[in-house]
Amino acid sequence: MVTLNDKDKEYLFGKIRDVHDFPKSGIIFKDITTLLNDKEAFNFLINHLTKRYETLDFEFITGIESRGFIFAGALAAKLNRAFVPIRKPKKLPYTTISEKYSLEYGIDEIEIHIDAFSTAKQNPPKVLLIDDLIATGGTAVAAIKLLQKIHVECVEACFVMNLKFLKGDAEIVKTTPVYSVLEVF
Ligand code: AMP
Repeated sequence: MVTLNDKDKEYLFGKIRDVHDFPKSGIIFKDITTLLNDKEAFNFLINHLTKRYETLDFEFITGIESRGFIFAGALAAKLNRAFVPIRKPKKLPYTTISEKYSLEYGIDEIEIHIDAFSTAKQNPPKVLLIDDLIATGGTAVAAIKLLQKIHVECVEACFVMNLKFLKGDAEIVKTTPVYSVLEVF
């Protein structure tokens, strides 16, 4: 499957803004709004993901709230696949199933509609998972567990960026292939 060359990675890196000490002191926040605001760069990224995934066998693309929705939604429309949102608690209106996961301080939870894959033609349904960034990996691991609970196969977990030094992908690769467009070492 296609990846980007160093020149193209550098181009996209140049569109992402580092915001220091957000949301708290010591964190360098990778701000993707500057990339989204550049129509050539956003288009370049979605075209790259289209090329990577157009021949991979899956029916659904699921995005993690909220920045994951932007990339997953755009790619789902381009690839003519169904979109499934994974959301924070109490946002989805119909019956949900959920998965809790640990944060640095406390616990968080994500939810998915129980019938999100009821239109699947494949058994098990196959899905591509997308989020903007992998840090500790907690969110993505919980999302994959949530999919496993409802017997859905995640064919790949895809991120725009991977903060490699946090080794968040180590747990995911045990069950699921991981692709990051950009890696921060
Ligand atoms: P984690 O569960 O630790 O892998 O965190 C991943 C989620 O937190 C992603 O949905 C990101 O949007 C967000 N996130 C964590 N760290 C950062 C960061 N340094 N810059 C931007 N987003 C971040």
